[in-house]
Amino acid sequence: MKPDLVRREANHVALTPLDFIARSADVVPHKIAVVDGERRFTYAEFEDRAARLAGGLAARGLREGDVVSVLAPNGAEMLEAHFGVPLAGGVLNALNTRLDPAAIAAILGHARARFFILHAALFKLGAAALAAMEGPRPAVIVIGASEAERDAVGGEDHGDVLAKAARHPRRAPADEWDSIALNYTSGTTGRPKGALYSHRGAYLNALGNVVTFGLRPESVYLWTLPMFHCNGWTYPWAVTAIGARHVCLPAIDPARIFRLIEEEGVTHLCAAPVVLTMLIHAPEAAGLRLSRTVEVATGGAAPPSAVIEAMERMGFRLTHLYGMTECYGPSTSCFPQEEWSDLPLEDRARLMARQGVRNITLQMQDVIDRETGLPVPRDGATLGELVLRGNTVMKGYLDAPEETENALADGRLHTGDLAVIHPDGYIEIKDRSKDIIISGGENISSLEVEEALYRHPAVMEAAVVARPDPKWGESPCAFVTLKPDAEPLTEEDVIAFCRERLARFKCPRSVVFGPLPKTSTGKIQKYELRRLAAEL
Ligand code: ADP
Repeated sequence: MKPDLVRREANHVALTPLDFIARSADVVPHKIAVVDGERRFTYAEFEDRAARLAGGLAARGLREGDVVSVLAPNGAEMLEAHFGVPLAGGVLNALNTRLDPAAIAAILGHARARFFILHAALFKLGAAALAAMEGPRPAVIVIGASEAERDAVGGEDHGDVLAKAARHPRRAPADEWDSIALNYTSGTTGRPKGALYSHRGAYLNALGNVVTFGLRPESVYLWTLPMFHCNGWTYPWAVTAIGARHVCLPAIDPARIFRLIEEEGVTHLCAAPVVLTMLIHAPEAAGLRLSRTVEVATGGAAPPSAVIEAMERMGFRLTHLYGMTECYGPSTSCFPQEEWSDLPLEDRARLMARQGVRNITLQMQDVIDRETGLPVPRDGATLGELVLRGNTVMKGYLDAPEETENALADGRLHTGDLAVIHPDGYIEIKDRSKDIIISGGENISSLEVEEALYRHPAVMEAAVVARPDPKWGESPCAFVTLKPDAEPLTEEDVIAFCRERLARFKCPRSVVFGPLPKTSTGKIQKYELRRLAAEL
């Protein structure tokens, strides 16, 4: 390299989302950045509060790389923590608000949390988690709690911390590879693991989201996705990067969502398919047609095409994303080809139900044969494992070298998801490897059977799992929730409906009606259903 062409301070800086908030506070200081109930903060205020949080944490002894766990609903303080914690050199650990105290205590212990920021709305849960901890406890900062509550956990008041703190002067991490966040998987397939994100990866994934989802400075983003889930798929950083507006939402409430869409002029939101199902079946949705298009990104589980269709009928435009905790949330998206727009909605929805192609910020996605490690043919039929590679793949799991090695073996993130790749290069997830049903030696994709079930006009939700079968080894067992106003259905009705749409061996052999158990991130608990199916 010629000496005049070396990397130097002028041309090489650490990539970090911290630059996003600094820039937006410079460029649009007076613009409303955050709406949280009655509270409104401009970009200048948002940045100042984050800098003061950082200053307050540093004054209390936060050191480079220390973990700050936060248990709070989707609100201003959680957004501020996405900037304030890393500004002080800390690592943000946003906690799943639906976990039980023991699970939270285990995470606080495993992460060796130095600070625990606890919102009054989740006080009981947080206090019980602290009481259940075995090792050293983190210093506690409580948001909006009473004095008695603060005393009970030996906590300081968050408002006081901010009011008395000096702004933290720091702008950039020493190295873009430094950790910015620690996110625990929800444990759908095993013991929760803590995935570490770097400043660099968070920066890139956030910008990838801005581009993929078409965020603009005038966008208004509604927080229907929990910020604890892969840092809200990195949207706290994405929305801030483009200087758009955050509208907070503490809990899923369809009436409030529809109201905020109108009152705040919401243009974009992200949500798991289960939330879309709630919106579709809310009384407020009956006959609803939005006054303008609202962009919805959905993922985290497969959205049945019937759900996509119903949302589009109301005036939402859907983007289907796929991702996991290990890759900062969204990594692939079902990029719509121009010619799809001429197709009837039903056909378009079927194409969109596929998980799609790699995002701009992901380098490689492929489906490989699990034995040979080689790519499977692009025939839409051969099942293999989805693997990913790029700068938006986690650094690794905290204190779990073996699991990190397994996940990132041979230069690819092994997702554990079974997929096919279509001739147009779009991938389609068929199952998680442990959810696939093997009947008489044939693979049956539970998602394919569910897709057929969702086509039934009386079905609201459906999940299909393997049931032990003396003759076939396993057979598909369907669990179905009917729409509230639906006529009752029999097991035979459901099986007959599937037979019109699926090969006979794929049709459920047993059907159970009732509500479906969900995980803390709104996914249907298939392992619980498998247990129930085995007992039938
Ligand atoms: P956990 O692994 O604990 O469930 P994650 O949020 O990391 O928590 O879940 C990621 C998994 O969710 C993926 O591995 C995949 O099985 C599933 N998933 C995510 N998005 C989609 C999608 N669009 N379609 C189908 N499955 C999806």
